[in-house]
Amino acid sequence: MNLVVVSNRVARARANEPLTGGLAAALLPVVEKSGAIWVGSSGRVRDGSHKEPFAEVEALGSGALALLDLPAAHYGGYYEGFANSALWPALHSRSDLIRVSHEDYQSYREVNAFMARALMRFRKPDTAFWIQDYHFLSLGAELRDLGVSNPVGFFLHTPWPARAVMGAVPHHRELIEAMLAYDLIGFQTDDDCENFLSYLQSELGLKIQDGVVTSRYGNSRCAVFPIGIDVEKFALQAAKASSHPDVSRLRRSLNGEQLAIGVDRLDYSKGLVNRINAFDRLLVSNPALKRTVSLLQIATPSRGMIEAYGNLQSELAKLVTDVNGRHGETDWMPIRYLNRGYSQTVLAGLYRTARVGVVTPLHDGMNLVAKEYVAAQNPADPGVLVLSKFAGAANELQTALLVNPHEIDGMARAIAAAFAMPLTERRTRWEAMMRKLRAGTVQQWFTDFSEALEDARVANKKTASDRPAAAVTPKSWPLHVVGSRSGAGVH
Ligand code: ADP
Repeated sequence: MNLVVVSNRVARARANEPLTGGLAAALLPVVEKSGAIWVGSSGRVRDGSHKEPFAEVEALGSGALALLDLPAAHYGGYYEGFANSALWPALHSRSDLIRVSHEDYQSYREVNAFMARALMRFRKPDTAFWIQDYHFLSLGAELRDLGVSNPVGFFLHTPWPARAVMGAVPHHRELIEAMLAYDLIGFQTDDDCENFLSYLQSELGLKIQDGVVTSRYGNSRCAVFPIGIDVEKFALQAAKASSHPDVSRLRRSLNGEQLAIGVDRLDYSKGLVNRINAFDRLLVSNPALKRTVSLLQIATPSRGMIEAYGNLQSELAKLVTDVNGRHGETDWMPIRYLNRGYSQTVLAGLYRTARVGVVTPLHDGMNLVAKEYVAAQNPADPGVLVLSKFAGAANELQTALLVNPHEIDGMARAIAAAFAMPLTERRTRWEAMMRKLRAGTVQQWFTDFSEALEDARVANKKTASDRPAAAVTPKSWPLHVVGSRSGAGVH
């Protein structure tokens, strides 16, 4: 099978550059080795007068990376608009933050259609397309409209919320109906998959049997594929990184203090305000901990053009200043707050230096930082993970200290317990988590999804050929007819 992977953001294989964002970080090592073609946005835009859509195609391992300039007229409406000011807040159960116009939706559909046209140059008879994430919910339908009958799968890296929440997204019905052009739709957790199926049943009135939904496009299989990390590589990187200057300087600066670490994109879904409040509460409730523990919070700014993100950045900076002002001393600060990116190697070393990893999102598809923190630990003296029960990772990492990120006191108590935890308990908990991580690596995830996609397509074609011709409505997806448009959605 000839695999074409599509995502909004792509990553380049430069080990010493920061790589913020779970999707790009997760995909890079596997795409590199698989020989797949990875297509995504170059981060640049261009106006419609240029005929040639690709800015760059470069080698990536045994495959290639194709960087596409997206249409200037639609980029803002697509990226900052519909994707990140309607879908992202809704998918993270924050429909109160939806700010979107009809033009944004049109731009989103235009960019999906543009990407579909650009993908046609990669299509061979044995090509399978694997589309990533909420930026491209309708890309599968656009490909079908162009006559593509190859396998097309989709994986959602974010959560899928309760039915009513998705109902707050403008045009939700036609958009989610368009998703049914995918042969396989993958989710991070059972809850996400169940929420999606429940939406299909109650909003679209569709029938579902054993996770397979039948629509005018044929059959779509919905299933769960929790994403993992490259555990061994991360563990090795972490062990090597302890001599890196950034890491050894941090270690020296601690003066025997114990460190907690948080590493996040600056996003309202990450629960950063509650986390800082919990650290404040920890010091108020346990004054004896002052000068013996501190927090290193790395929060890399993202999506700064969107108001909710700008507001959060100011709020957090103010809160950290306030906590440091109240608890700090001339030669000691409780919180080191940094807004920059680090290479994966340095990050691995920083995780290993910290006795406690604090990963407390309000809602997160998986949260790779939680897995990276665990993989980076020293087996002889591992740290403790304090993990939100609303992160997808909590399904696997059950021996972390699981917390409710809305409960500040509970989080403060869990962080205190993590600092105080004896070595034997730390090791038992950590070993159980490592077993889970080794059983579900990103390589395994990639293989499982690719194989399931092939199977789903074969099953779909078989069902279509078994169906009596009369059952195929004029609007049905023409399985082998190239070049027709079914007219689904807005273009
Ligand atoms: P999300 O995809 O929502 O950003 P995840 O926790 O799943 O959240 O993934 C974040 C990824 O980005 C991880 O691989 C992490 O190592 C990386 N990352 C986050 N912050 C930084 C940073 N400051 N420097 C480098 N990498 C970072």
